[in-house]
Amino acid sequence: MPQDLFQAPDYYLLDELLTEEHKLVRDAAREWVKREVSPIIEEYAQKAEFPTQIINGLAEIGAFGPYIPVEYGGAGLDQVSYGLIMQEIERGDSGVRSTASVQSSLVMYPIWKFGSEDQRQKYLPKLASGEYMGCFGLTEPDFGSNPGGMVTNFKDKGDYYLLNGAKMWISNAPFADIAVVWAKNEEGRIHGLIVERGMEGFSTPETHNKWSLRASATGELIFDNVKVPKENLLPGKSGLGAPLLCLDSARYGIAWGAIGAAMDCYDTALRYSQERIQFDKPIGAFQLQQKKLAEMITEITKAQLLTWRLGVLRNDNRATSAQISMAKRNNVDMALKIARDARQMLGGMGITGEYPIMRHMMNLESVVTYEGTHDIHLLITGMDVTGLNAFK
Ligand SMILES: Cc1cc2nc3c(=O)[nH]c(=O)nc-3n(C[C@H](O)[C@H](O)[C@H](O)COP(=O)(O)OP(=O)(O)OC[C@H]3O[C@@H](n4cnc5c(N)ncnc54)[C@H](O)[C@@H]3O)c2cc1C
Repeated sequence: MPQDLFQAPDYYLLDELLTEEHKLVRDAAREWVKREVSPIIEEYAQKAEFPTQIINGLAEIGAFGPYIPVEYGGAGLDQVSYGLIMQEIERGDSGVRSTASVQSSLVMYPIWKFGSEDQRQKYLPKLASGEYMGCFGLTEPDFGSNPGGMVTNFKDKGDYYLLNGAKMWISNAPFADIAVVWAKNEEGRIHGLIVERGMEGFSTPETHNKWSLRASATGELIFDNVKVPKENLLPGKSGLGAPLLCLDSARYGIAWGAIGAAMDCYDTALRYSQERIQFDKPIGAFQLQQKKLAEMITEITKAQLLTWRLGVLRNDNRATSAQISMAKRNNVDMALKIARDARQMLGGMGITGEYPIMRHMMNLESVVTYEGTHDIHLLITGMDVTGLNAFK
């Protein structure tokens, strides 16, 4: 990829809504992405590999547990800082942001919120530093949008729990040291269990041939009579509401992340439109190209406002799950549309790895599906405003 010349659009002077700490955190993440992610990410996406050498850097910019208290190794930041870090990382690549989101909101968050004090002390500092990497197992081959139907289960064997089942589409699975796994007990109640690599009967085969999120490792989790120590059950919360709370936190991060991908596509297309000459003029001088750019910056600005407000509500513990659904759905859809238009603006160059747009576009095809599909989030909004459930 050519030199990363990214300049963040801020059409409505939204920096004025940020505190000095927000800007410091964001700028540090932005500089780190330019320095450590942009130069290598295309190569890793092409070879379908997660660049493990950036794990330490991710930990240093606070991407692992941004809002987890400092006493557990987290960065102790607020929700807006968390969002800004996700925005900057996804500006580099959605796959890298996925790794950070899973680590923070789907592994550290449940251990922090639902774990015992021993579990917090044992795992959180190592997850914050990147010494341990984690994954989150909810989706199963036959239960995606409807995770409550899961069949993965554990039985109480006196000294330990015996875990059986399989999870699919699990980010970070191939290299994770621990997995937070959601499974049903003998009464059919969902609980979270911490499963460690090396436990007998636990394997994590990688999923190959993805056209999307190629720089993020995805795999299965297979449990074949795994003996899980009793102290590895998360004691603080059970039922489907527990994993859904984790997803709220991750989806909120995705809403910010998608803005990052959209900003990168817009910025790339804007610069290209000023440099590329056709019919003796820069293509940016043609109305059809200006329409695309004008609509892009309008949609980015709307998403920035929506998401900043959501961050403020989350800081006050007032954001609802349905509000998070709206932001996730809106922003990922917005980013995907911008990526498609930006790709067209670059003509043939738009399909190459010389520019980041096609990679963003393909990545966003996963982001629009995982953590609740585009349609599922629409149903959540529909149910919220009507009070009527259209899922079943
Ligand atoms: C790259 C990647 C990484 C992922 N990482 C993780 C992870 O780390 N951990 C994890 O647990 N999961 C992960 N997932 C799984 C992801 O969350 C699921 O793919 C997603 O929830 C959708 O489930 P599904 O693929 O089974 O689709 P399905 O649920 O089979 O849905 C298929 C289609 O049917 C539609 N649909 C379903 N139900 C309804 C309904 N009631 N009304 C209308 N339409 C409906 C959906 O919107 C979709 O369009 C990942 C997925 C991908 C692609």
